[in-house]
Amino acid sequence: MFRLLKTMSFVLLIAVFSLTGAILAQDDHGDEGDDQGHEAPHWSYEGESGPEHWGELSEDYTLCVDGSAQSPIDIGEVIDADLTNITFNYGETALNILNNGHTIQVNVDEGSSITYQGITYNLLQFHFHHPSEHTVNGEATDMEIHFVHQDPNSGNLAVVGVLLVGGADENTAYEAVLSNAPSEETEVMTVDGATLDLNSLLPEHTTYFTYNGSLTTPPCSEIVRWLLLDTEVALTDEQIETFASIFENNARPVQSSEGRDVFHDTSE
Ligand SMILES: [Zn+2]
Repeated sequence: MFRLLKTMSFVLLIAVFSLTGAILAQDDHGDEGDDQGHEAPHWSYEGESGPEHWGELSEDYTLCVDGSAQSPIDIGEVIDADLTNITFNYGETALNILNNGHTIQVNVDEGSSITYQGITYNLLQFHFHHPSEHTVNGEATDMEIHFVHQDPNSGNLAVVGVLLVGGADENTAYEAVLSNAPSEETEVMTVDGATLDLNSLLPEHTTYFTYNGSLTTPPCSEIVRWLLLDTEVALTDEQIETFASIFENNARPVQSSEGRDVFHDTSE
């Protein structure tokens, strides 16, 4: 019986990993794509493989051009509402960091999550864009960090975005990450002795803008509940420059909102 249970849980584990792999394959929201055994078409942020051409690069990427709920968008007119809070159940993680050719990403240890509207989404990884992908009233900020969470039951994602700006005297939490950012494409590596308190990357207030959208990288899957915090986090100018020296531009341009409503949580 015990052996059977073990076998069943192993099968279940494989099924979950396959699902995750299928959803997250070949985009900057998961590095599982590298293990799929087939080459993803090369995509980039400029030229013939840039954002205007993502939809032509693969049959798997057609949503990037045909989709009706694409991200990022400009946050312009919003509907103010007292929405449910995002509950952050964040803990510590080892610094499992990589440069996947599209961004700097940290794959977080198991155990951190958010709870939103009754659903718990597990934190898988976070990564950066320069400049910000979302704009507010047409203005981008220096950078944006994306915390990628997944509902293990549906496979749907909830991505918490935080707009980052320069000008701080110091930011020790982000320094721990950015000072270890590999300048060349790498496999994931764990920095010896480094632990990161994930809460320290968040702003004090976690009220937010929200809308339904997509991955901002191929295959542009429309499975994302976006939760863009309305409070920025300040880094030092040197930290912004460090990232910019590795990724001069890794932000997809804003997409048409296609009539989608954007809500602004005013509960705090
Ligand atoms: Zn992202």
